[in-house]
Amino acid sequence: MREELHRLREDAFNSLKEARSAEDVLAVRKKYLGRKGPIASLIKELGKYPPDERREAGAEINRVKREIEDEIEALLDELRLREREERLKKEKIDVTLPGRSIPFGRLHPVTRVLEEVEGIFTSMGFDIAEGPEIETDYYNFEALNIPKNHPARDMQDTFYVSSDVVLRTHTSPVQIRVMETQSPPLRVIAPGAVYRRDSDLTHTPMFHQVEGFMVDERVTFGDLKGVLSAFLQRLFGEGTPLRFRPSFFPFTEPSAEVDIRCVMCKGTGCRVCKETGWLEILGCGMIHPEVFRSVGYDCEKYTGFAFGLGIERIAMLKYGIDDIRLFFENDIRFLRQF
Ligand SMILES: [Zn+2]
Repeated sequence: MREELHRLREDAFNSLKEARSAEDVLAVRKKYLGRKGPIASLIKELGKYPPDERREAGAEINRVKREIEDEIEALLDELRLREREERLKKEKIDVTLPGRSIPFGRLHPVTRVLEEVEGIFTSMGFDIAEGPEIETDYYNFEALNIPKNHPARDMQDTFYVSSDVVLRTHTSPVQIRVMETQSPPLRVIAPGAVYRRDSDLTHTPMFHQVEGFMVDERVTFGDLKGVLSAFLQRLFGEGTPLRFRPSFFPFTEPSAEVDIRCVMCKGTGCRVCKETGWLEILGCGMIHPEVFRSVGYDCEKYTGFAFGLGIERIAMLKYGIDDIRLFFENDIRFLRQF
């Protein structure tokens, strides 16, 4: 019996030496110390011994059993500790590493200029109005005193959706829509996208315009000059020289174009201003009586002025960009500069 017990002890300890995980150790415990294991059967056999030998043999078996149990407990403790250390090592976080920066979006240069223009006009008491980008012929042309045979209706300039529906070529139709539903006094700007069949260094098929108008009793060309001068001084800087040149638009009479002194060469002449020293910046004029008639305003009682300007053109001049297409190529290297 003693020899067998000794052999069992050796076997159990050898198995434990080979155990690599807590699971292995538990398997060894089950094998040697389980209810059907060899130790248990030795205990069962004690009954065959005479009483004086039985006590001694029992004590011997219990001693070996405890030795194996102690070894198992020690091993389990060690294995659990090692597993915990490994897990900690795996989950270790280096708090000194620099964080991953989240890229910030920025406002598109066209949006920035649009917001600046809107800010200047709203500070002068103008409201903002919007209208549809797909317009009827009536709002885009007819109501604005652009007759059927006018060159602006040419297929080369206008995107036609159908014979009577177009992509608006300017934001002026919003002027008609506002005047149809509201009565003077009116001070309104209408920003938005417009479409023309045109594409080169300074033209894109879609671009942004701000249309503005003011209607009341006794609005004069002096009011037009005052409002637009104040606006351009704020947009391009106090003291920027301006000039008003006579021009023609079907929906205003008289009409004018406004130039500012070239922001690139300060008037000495360069490629951007075509050596003239001046840059054309907006079109304007006193609203044509025909336009008032089409919305049912009494043109003996009311007068008003209107103007329109291209946002991309202003953004190009403000930021010194010489190709309008850069605004719409969505090259992140370009857009990051603003
Ligand atoms: Zn110039």
